[in-house]
Amino acid sequence: MHCPFCDETDTKVIDSRLVAEGNQVRRRRECQACRERFTTFEAAELLMPRIIKQDGTREPFDEEKLRNGFMRALEKRPVSVEKIESAITAIKHYLQAMGEREVKSLVIGEKVMHELRNLDQVAYVRFASVYRSFQDISEFQEEIQRLQKTPESP
Ligand SMILES: [Zn+2]
Repeated sequence: MHCPFCDETDTKVIDSRLVAEGNQVRRRRECQACRERFTTFEAAELLMPRIIKQDGTREPFDEEKLRNGFMRALEKRPVSVEKIESAITAIKHYLQAMGEREVKSLVIGEKVMHELRNLDQVAYVRFASVYRSFQDISEFQEEIQRLQKTPESP
């Protein structure tokens, strides 16, 4: 860490402690050249990546949009809000754990399908029919056929 006063590269940590309920590390540093002291804060970076749309444009991750997508697919289906929220949380964790600054919208679409498939097969087909129509029709038809063969889980 460079000294902000003289730009010296050699600075020494003289104190280190957890702050913000353990979510940050506060460090006191001392410059070995000019002896000035300064403080740094370190925290895990859990930012949501920006989304790369199909046409190549970027937009910020929009949790509301994700929620609306789930709500639309799950309209009049017997799935609790709690389950929807935990699916949304799972997707957000997944995106944060990737640690990428930008993620293709395709990646999110696939994750939504994965979550919907576990929540409700009707909702899954609803979402997939809209989502996949822009991509690969034959793949979607195979998926429907596969679902028809699989008995619905209780
Ligand atoms: Zn210095």
